[in-house]
Amino acid sequence: MHHFQPNKSGDWTSEEFEYYGAQLLSLLKRHFDHIRHLPVSTSISPAELHQLLDQPLPEQALPFSETLQETWDHVIPHLTHWNHPSFHAYFSNSASYPGILADLLISSLNVNAMVWKSAPAASTLEKVVLKWLAEMIKLDPATDGVLLNGASLATFYALVAARDLHAPIDIDIRNEGLIGHTNLPKMRIYTSDQAHSSVDKAAIALGIGLNNVVKISSNENYQMIPTELKKALEHDLKQGYLPIAVIATVGTTSTGAVDPIQPIAKLCRKHGVWLHIDAAYGGFWNLVPEIEMHAEDLSLGDSLVVNPHKVLYTPLEVTALFCKRKNALANSFRLVPEYLETTKEDGSTDYMDYSLQLGRSFRSLKLWWVIRTFGKDGLAKQLTHSIDLTKWLSAEIADHPDFIQIASSPFALICLRVIPRKIQAFLPTATPEERALLGGYIDQLNRAILEKLNQTGTTFLSHTVVKQGYVIRISIGNIHTEFRDIERLWELLKKISGETIQQLTLPSFVD
Ligand SMILES: *Cc1c(COP(=O)(O)O)cnc(C)c1O
Repeated sequence: MHHFQPNKSGDWTSEEFEYYGAQLLSLLKRHFDHIRHLPVSTSISPAELHQLLDQPLPEQALPFSETLQETWDHVIPHLTHWNHPSFHAYFSNSASYPGILADLLISSLNVNAMVWKSAPAASTLEKVVLKWLAEMIKLDPATDGVLLNGASLATFYALVAARDLHAPIDIDIRNEGLIGHTNLPKMRIYTSDQAHSSVDKAAIALGIGLNNVVKISSNENYQMIPTELKKALEHDLKQGYLPIAVIATVGTTSTGAVDPIQPIAKLCRKHGVWLHIDAAYGGFWNLVPEIEMHAEDLSLGDSLVVNPHKVLYTPLEVTALFCKRKNALANSFRLVPEYLETTKEDGSTDYMDYSLQLGRSFRSLKLWWVIRTFGKDGLAKQLTHSIDLTKWLSAEIADHPDFIQIASSPFALICLRVIPRKIQAFLPTATPEERALLGGYIDQLNRAILEKLNQTGTTFLSHTVVKQGYVIRISIGNIHTEFRDIERLWELLKKISGETIQQLTLPSFVD
């Protein structure tokens, strides 16, 4: 136990700060050195965990060494470890070491990047990293942009700007609000049936309403069908609706599908409708040369969201929203009370003008550190590595008689269904009733396999439900995932699937 001189301020002394900081870093080093031996997820129940952590309000100061110990004993073991190389659920992400340290510096400085004057270098670095990101995804580097906490709010903000731009000229929504106009046509937004739920949530909050989110059908690869969009737009225009935006997705959440941006953009241009591209997951994969060759042109949207905290090795929360319509975001969100008035200088940006958020952390610093540390080439190389691992696993799955891959994504995401070969052989001659019954068996089988896989604690996968039924998803994207991890996952997947198939009693008509 170290003894420090008491500090009059009540906070630690700087010696204590350094001492515990070094201790934390060394604990973290051990954590990362042994992470492959740590379970990816926990099986503790909410009640047990509550009992473990629900302590009385501390009346007196507790020694920090105890808090640290308690954290390692009772908190960290009961997390799902997103930063684990065997985490493959949802969209696998990672906090790289420089990104993690940047968060320490961000908290240490604790600057509030609301206006240029309140944090000059933070505002300027935000502009710089947004320019770098724009360059990476082939947007005009001068495009308006802002760093936000997540793609969901980014989409909301883009749709607010779209709504305000499309509102009839004689209606002053900003001052009068949406309520009570007899001459305000019903606003609608259009997106595919695979779009992220944040589009629906935005419609709720915008006062557009879920019934006015038109879900355009997707094809067998889960991509929006442009001719269906065309039909919907033309139908609604005839009916007097006001289409304000189309949301296209690059990397859908279920299967990583990419909507055909070009024909969608053409329709949007023709009808003067705002195009928002949700590339939260898909945007940065364009850094991989072979993906870039076939990549959609992200600059065709009026607005675009990409998620560095999902794909670019930067810790939560950092999302970039770009808006090609100059000042559209500021026109919707700028509102400056006297106490936030500052003298404007040329080249200064007040990022509070671009969203609802006033207090903003120094998010640009972690992107600045991550991008400088790896360089665009380093990031591209790492993303390519994830794609290579995905291709290897995908080829193994394709060769296995009991596995079927669903809807191949260009990105590092595999969707599969375990279908025993016996059922596969029977299906072509099955009646519709038999087919439906077997579909239920297969769903149950896959659900059981996923549960058993996750219970091992050696991997963590998630699922989705698509037209074919229940599907197991494997997302590969952690910066520390290696070939041996994927090889081990494949062995485990085969073993558990085999065992679960053995235990399955099939309906008599299959035998
Ligand atoms: C992850 C994701 C989102 C939501 O992102 P958050 O940053 O968690 O809000 C939205 N759209 C798509 C396509 C996504 O993959």
